[in-house]
Amino acid sequence: MSWLRSHPAFFVRCAEVVPSPCCGKELKVIGSRKRKLTSESGESRVLVVRRLRCSGCRSIHHELPDCVVPYKRYESACIEQVVSEPERPSVVAADDATLRRWKNWFKGMSTYLLGCLTSIAIRLHQDPVENPSVSSQSAHQRIGHYVGDASGWLARIVRPIVNSNLWVHTRFAFLSTQLLR
Ligand SMILES: [Zn+2]
Repeated sequence: MSWLRSHPAFFVRCAEVVPSPCCGKELKVIGSRKRKLTSESGESRVLVVRRLRCSGCRSIHHELPDCVVPYKRYESACIEQVVSEPERPSVVAADDATLRRWKNWFKGMSTYLLGCLTSIAIRLHQDPVENPSVSSQSAHQRIGHYVGDASGWLARIVRPIVNSNLWVHTRFAFLSTQLLR
């Protein structure tokens, strides 16, 4: 594991106190684990994220740094860039298969992610976005109605969706979408 030695780890600390996504109870820090994250240039660094245990049901969670999309190895800014403008040649140093996977992932997930944002907005008693069915708009434009379309929009939707326990692994996305309907 040479990359552990060659790249300095830095610690991620979240100032916010987030209740557990499963039970809404207190999360206790029980340790940490390393996670590799790759930037636009293809360089990797190692993040140290804290392992947390729910004091309600004892399930394990991991702290989520702002720049991380769950289950993805690249920084969220890279993925955002590629899925925002799928037609444009990418500046991200990743192979074609990876870029294609991100585009397909976003295409498959966008309806579900929009549904999550709507349900969070309703839960927070914010008016759902008016006329969300404007079909001429791209998914990322529609997401922009909730979190703004300035850069960083992907990072801005990840955290609330994860904290609401709505983030799903792509493999399960379609199943979950079915269940929520
Ligand atoms: Zn729990």
